Amino acid sequence: MPIRSNFLAALLLTTAAGSAQAASRLNIVTATEDLAALAREVGGDRIDVESIARGYQDPHFVEPKPSFLLKLQKADLLLVVGLQLEIGWLPPLITQSRNPKIQPSAPGYMDLSASAKIMEIPVGQVTRAMGDVHPLGNPHYWLDPDNGRRMAKAIADKLSQMDPSSAAGFAQRYAEFERHLTAAEKEWDQKMAPFRGQKVITYHRSWPNFCGRFGLVVVDYVEPKPGIPPTPSHTLDVINIMLREKINLILVEPYFDLRTPNSIAQKTGGEVVVLLPSVGGVKEVKDYFQLFDYDVNLLVKAFSKVK
Ligand SMILES: [Zn+2]
Repeated sequence: MPIRSNFLAALLLTTAAGSAQAASRLNIVTATEDLAALAREVGGDRIDVESIARGYQDPHFVEPKPSFLLKLQKADLLLVVGLQLEIGWLPPLITQSRNPKIQPSAPGYMDLSASAKIMEIPVGQVTRAMGDVHPLGNPHYWLDPDNGRRMAKAIADKLSQMDPSSAAGFAQRYAEFERHLTAAEKEWDQKMAPFRGQKVITYHRSWPNFCGRFGLVVVDYVEPKPGIPPTPSHTLDVINIMLREKINLILVEPYFDLRTPNSIAQKTGGEVVVLLPSVGGVKEVKDYFQLFDYDVNLLVKAFSKVK
């Protein structure tokens, strides 16, 4: 049966070619979904990328699972947020993976904070009494689209080093991303322009980059200190500040308990806004653009409601 065996041979050939191509794709693991989203923008079909943390989880506290080790064992490149954001869960996983490519001193370990503008770098000594202060600066830096641009560029350069034969493709995809981002930033800035100078309360210090970018002023936090749960006396302070300074919005990350923010809102006539710090925070937010679309639209709605 010559036809049939030809067909079979052809089939075998295509499968072999297919898996050779799959094998040549860079295997990337990221700490968070934001980094995976940016890697996807510039890597396209030349990479496989998977995040460890989910976008609806608190990235400071991720419960390790055996499946994370399997991912890390196969990775060519690990992208991390850095600035100690993942210090509570990622370092032991990296060690246990025994993958030499992604150990912190190896070329397959990439800390994206090196490419970003970092805010809130503490001056002087950081002590335990200050709460969970990130001693190297605020790690929630991906929430300024200009940092997204810098991070995407750094990832594109890294991918080109690791897979030079695809460098032109990575450069082209980055250029496309950059154009799209510049257009989107114009739209976001326009939508947020009427609210520049508005004061807000946030739960955790996740938003200095976001608020700085869009001109919102963070006056206080629901947490008395970073990483420390609300206390009755601090909650009372927040209520008084909101009343005194006529602050209406309390921005809360999706993984925090809403009881304290809700009771603050009740006593001040304010509004709780569950803003997303990450891609994947809700199902429909699948990429870096949708993250800002979602947050900007939510804020515009909330500010219009309390006006
Ligand atoms: Zn934090």
